[in-house]
Amino acid sequence: MQNKISDILIIGGGAAGLMAGIGAAKVNAGAKITVLEKMPRPGRKIIITGKGRCNLSNFKDWEDFSTHIHPKPNFLKNAFFNFSPEKTVGFFEECGLRTVTERGDRVFPESGNSKDVVDTLVSAAASLGVDIIAGTEIRHIGSNPDGTFSADSADGTKFSGKSLIITTGGLSYPATGSTGDGLEWASELGLGTVPCFPSLTAIVPKGYKATKDGISASGHIHREAPLSETGALLNGNRLKNISLRILIDGTEVYDEFGDIDFTDGGLEGPLGFKVSRKCVKAIINGSKVKVIIDMKPAVTLNELDKRIYALWKEINEDRRSRSRSREDRMRILLGKLLPSDLIRGFLKYRPVNEAAKVGKALKNWEMDIAGYVGYERCVITAGGISTDEVSAKTMECKKIPGLYFAGEILDLDADTGGYNLQTAFSTGRLAGESAARKISTLQ
Ligand SMILES: Cc1cc2nc3c(=O)[nH]c(=O)nc-3n(C[C@H](O)[C@H](O)[C@H](O)COP(=O)(O)OP(=O)(O)OC[C@H]3O[C@@H](n4cnc5c(N)ncnc54)[C@H](O)[C@@H]3O)c2cc1C
Repeated sequence: MQNKISDILIIGGGAAGLMAGIGAAKVNAGAKITVLEKMPRPGRKIIITGKGRCNLSNFKDWEDFSTHIHPKPNFLKNAFFNFSPEKTVGFFEECGLRTVTERGDRVFPESGNSKDVVDTLVSAAASLGVDIIAGTEIRHIGSNPDGTFSADSADGTKFSGKSLIITTGGLSYPATGSTGDGLEWASELGLGTVPCFPSLTAIVPKGYKATKDGISASGHIHREAPLSETGALLNGNRLKNISLRILIDGTEVYDEFGDIDFTDGGLEGPLGFKVSRKCVKAIINGSKVKVIIDMKPAVTLNELDKRIYALWKEINEDRRSRSRSREDRMRILLGKLLPSDLIRGFLKYRPVNEAAKVGKALKNWEMDIAGYVGYERCVITAGGISTDEVSAKTMECKKIPGLYFAGEILDLDADTGGYNLQTAFSTGRLAGESAARKISTLQ
């Protein structure tokens, strides 16, 4: 059996792990730093981020940035200022990766290719002497009485380190390697974890999927579950500038403007994702969730009714209408009020056969939510290692000195917009730097 000794062992070669290695090497150039990654190549998840473009950061200042972090934004504050979005972008630019900032302060590589972000991280780490060992799955970790740590790989190799940084991610998109291994190790070490649930995911209206059997007790509806006829008619539509209200057990908890997408999963898009955290949590807790869409938020019901009345009159007075059924005339009316691709699905979900009732239907499209798409296709895992277990100043575990956590494994998640990767970079960098400083004092 091989035994490989390092100063700093990092398990998980994703955004947080690679940045931890870079941070550690920059602080302590002489330290032997090893990143262990179970997939054949590091950074597999980064490749699929931002639809292949990788929204790697967000340039908002802390006041604004922190409103997108859940559940305890203050835990991130120190890591954020230690390695801020400006410093992160500065790091990538210095490494030769040009970036662009788009609407909403979102930062992308100028090339529009997420692979460039991975390549930059890997070559920066390698040039600093960090040893990245891919294709190595760690099965078990141990905290030794002499204060060192061990990690046993699936092929029998034993790794050990004076410090151990765990950056194995959450549970979302398990095909990228993130299968929650680190969460199990933390429980074995007696550390507190906050129950995980999928976030930034599709929420599924009742009747949208054809299956009843596919819904688990917790409300999980597999992404691959087939669409119902209504779901198939709605799939592919984007509703722009609508207002979305969320009711949990009858109480309104959310009301915002924006865009939603009907997809093969359910309700997604910027607003859909934004509300998914609240909705999934409520469904898991056994609450009833309802969404109410107002497709004409800029006008009052009274104003809309007046407009509909005028349109209806015009349609009925048109000579061509004489040969048309009432149903056809209703479709013509809706065609003047809604995107044409939406009409059949809308009518199937919300049948309306009187012009006088159209205004209310458009401003008050209610949908009960049956469930949500799970880890198989969610963007982020909410929950994880309790931040009470970890020092916000160093990312070191309070109960086990020398052990650090960073990235999605922590009970720290964010909205879409580059906040999640920035969180992984900031916490990873701080964990790496802190571990390296500690090693320096021991040397
Ligand atoms: C489809 C999708 C799109 C996204 N788009 C964006 C975006 O544009 N912007 C943004 O900010 N965020 C985005 N995110 C979220 C972002 O990707 C994550 O928050 C971030 O990658 C988390 O980084 P991490 O290093 O903590 O974890 P991960 O990226 O999950 O890395 C963990 C690594 O640990 C390895 N590992 C796990 N277990 C072991 C083990 N036992 N032994 C060895 N290695 C192990 C895994 O293989 C993996 O490589 C997206 C996520 C998804 C799923």
